[in-house]
Amino acid sequence: MLAFLVLGTVALASAHHSGEHFEGEKVFRVNVEDENHIHLIRELASTTQIDFWKPDSVTQIKPHSAVDFRVKAEDIVTVENVLKQNELQYEVLISNLRNVLEAQFDSQARATGHSYEKYNNWETIEAWTQQVTTENPDLISRSVIGTTFEGRNMYLLKVGKAGPNKPAIFMDCGFHAREWISPAFCQWFVREAVRTYGREIQMTALLKKLDFYVLPVLNIDGYIYTWTKDRMWRKTRSTNAGSRCYGTDPNRNFDAGWCETGASRSPCAETYCGPAAESEKETKALADFIRDNLSSIKAYLTIHSYSQMLVYPYSYDYKLPDNNAELNALAKAAVKELASLYGTKYTYGPGAATIYLAAGGSDDWAYDQGIKYSFTFELRDTGRYGFLLPESQIRATCEETVLAIKYLANYVLEHLY
Ligand SMILES: [Zn+2]
Repeated sequence: MLAFLVLGTVALASAHHSGEHFEGEKVFRVNVEDENHIHLIRELASTTQIDFWKPDSVTQIKPHSAVDFRVKAEDIVTVENVLKQNELQYEVLISNLRNVLEAQFDSQARATGHSYEKYNNWETIEAWTQQVTTENPDLISRSVIGTTFEGRNMYLLKVGKAGPNKPAIFMDCGFHAREWISPAFCQWFVREAVRTYGREIQMTALLKKLDFYVLPVLNIDGYIYTWTKDRMWRKTRSTNAGSRCYGTDPNRNFDAGWCETGASRSPCAETYCGPAAESEKETKALADFIRDNLSSIKAYLTIHSYSQMLVYPYSYDYKLPDNNAELNALAKAAVKELASLYGTKYTYGPGAATIYLAAGGSDDWAYDQGIKYSFTFELRDTGRYGFLLPESQIRATCEETVLAIKYLANYVLEHLY
């Protein structure tokens, strides 16, 4: 018992000795009605330290929408005064970020080593990619598609029964460093595939007829940074010439209307598009792999959080994809499937209208490469915990999402092109 307690304490301490402590920080949700309100929020953001959670930046706020943002302890009085004086409707989603941050680690799983129901650090995930491959040689092979800015290997797992000329579905997780539920999902999906192969009819058929390429973490450097320095980090960790600020938003860095809208040219911004499309080693590696395998890749899935949405192109423009009607029907059916387990409600639709305009996203880019089925998942929740979803929700979140992805995969198989 004592040994267990000591181990638990060490695990907690190692997860928490990060530079930022977040004591007294709050997350607000403000209902924005009109341009006046947007102007006020913009002013607030220029005078106080505001970290936008939803949408990703101040420039993406639309009238008649809810805006979630994090405020530093020393700015809370100022922010609340401005909101009250101007009669903006708001609520406090998180009253002390530090408490919610610590409450994330509420899994009942054992305290050390890899667990599918815990958030695993990169070192643990890296070892897991090796182990799960070694344990399932008939179903999984591992490759390295590139290295990160800081020189780490980017592992890709190919999951499926060997066969000639198989179609494939590409899925990635961990674009945005602080969206921890995303890498947890990729790990869960791989486990679910090998666990149910040969036991469950649908998964068995899927793995016989197609391959899943699973990239467990794209932005590894950023993910590590969230474990060691700043839990709220979003971007890559590349240096920017002429700036003290680090990183590029990997989901603004693709050659799809690059930096035209809903992205920033400032290296200090959370939605910085980078000096050029594919400037980041991570996005370049992903794009190169997809270009090299375009003939087999029939669907592209990218997993983010939060807000419970399933969106498809386009996000860089209000224009609709050629197969909009098909994608809309498919998204509708997939979210229905997802909800069948726990009743979790997702909204769905083309990105620009459903979320907001944002150029340079990987889903738009993949679609424009000719991949007809391209989707972005925004997993749980809708803001109660935001990026700090407790570990106790990993299982349910992943179970329901697997249903949606199996549905999509099955549809793709029946509509090969
Ligand atoms: Zn994201």
